[in-house]
Amino acid sequence: MEKQIYDLAIIGAGPAGLTAGVYAARAGLNVAMIERGAPGGQMVNTGEIENYTGFEMISGPELSMKMFEHAQKTGAKYVYGDVQDVTVLENGTHSINLGQKEVEAKAVIVATGTVHRPLNVPGEKELSGRGISFCAICDGAFFKGRKVAVIGGGDSAVEEAIYLAGLCEKVYIVHRRDELRAQKILQNRAFAIDNIEMVWDTVVESFEEASGKLGSIKTKSVKTGDVSSLEVDGAFIYVGLDPITNMVKGLGITDARGYIEVNPHMETKLPGVFAAGDVTNKELRQVVTATNDGAIAAQTAYKYIETTLKSS
Ligand code: FAD
Ligand code: NAP
Repeated sequence: MEKQIYDLAIIGAGPAGLTAGVYAARAGLNVAMIERGAPGGQMVNTGEIENYTGFEMISGPELSMKMFEHAQKTGAKYVYGDVQDVTVLENGTHSINLGQKEVEAKAVIVATGTVHRPLNVPGEKELSGRGISFCAICDGAFFKGRKVAVIGGGDSAVEEAIYLAGLCEKVYIVHRRDELRAQKILQNRAFAIDNIEMVWDTVVESFEEASGKLGSIKTKSVKTGDVSSLEVDGAFIYVGLDPITNMVKGLGITDARGYIEVNPHMETKLPGVFAAGDVTNKELRQVVTATNDGAIAAQTAYKYIETTLKSS
């Protein structure tokens, strides 16, 4: 099996991993950024970012490209691959298994982010890709001029509903409470858009098929228990995110919800294993906090490698 050796391996090239790459390479480390998808992480699927300081508005793909080019220019190496697992070797280094190849590194930063949580209701799996989507930027255009529903009440649901309202005839936001969780600025924007309609206090019972694709959503009022049918061509599910930590599950560094536990220096309880970004147990999951974590993790990893090297 092909084996590559680095000082530092960063798993995931979203804003956390790319920023860690910039800081680590500038500190003189030989660093690999291992990524299984497109560099930029969740930013790639975000239309407009309006809260990354210095950019009043920048598209997600553009910011992804800028960060990626920046990291590469500093000397951080991009390694394409899907990390299967991470093992701490007896000599204290780390083996990162990518299936067909192996990367060995003195230290590791896990920056694998999160994945959209499914609703787990009947019809969801079967109709995914046939009317049900988890990405408005990717699939919104299929529903141009048609009716769609967005499920959820957080930043993702409201931001993506606003995006969809520009394409679709009608956008229903189906939310289980009578108050949104999303930032006020997004709420106010959504409330001002004529073709967005709020469906409050309502949960999805099932997604129903018509002519081989999504035809309607069976909903239930949590207040009255009444069951209704919402006729839509598309449904976009934004009911939260789950951390991607399967590759480190053997290391015992996650909390009960699966997030990686870190201290303010982005250290896990295992020497030489650090984490950054959305995958960590923190409050605010944003591009700016991911880049912050990445910078700290790289600096701490650099100090760890320097100290370990000097004393060995
Ligand atoms: P991610 O961006 O999730 O990147 C993680 C990377 O790790 C991914 O590229 C993934 O492919 C890779 N990876 C995972 N597992 C593996 C593996 N086993 N092997 C190799 N690679 C792996 N924040 C804002 O500040 N402003 C916004 O406007 C905004 N809009 C958003 C809109 C939506 C719809 C969503 C879902 C989020 C939005 N966010 C926004 C939040 C922001 O995108 C995240 O906080 C940020 O991307 C987290 O960065 P990260 O690097 O921690 O993780
Ligand atoms: P989130 O903040 O966890 O919100 C999930 C939403 O889905 C909540 O409104 C929740 O309802 C609802 N929900 C959860 N489980 C449900 C279920 N089983 N049935 C029905 N509804 C359910 O997730 P998110 O909106 O994806 O945001 C994730 C992170 O990314 C956040 O930190 C967010 O700030 C960030 N983000 C930021 C931006 C931005 O800055 N512009 C944009 C997108 C995302 P309750 O409210 O009742 O709990």
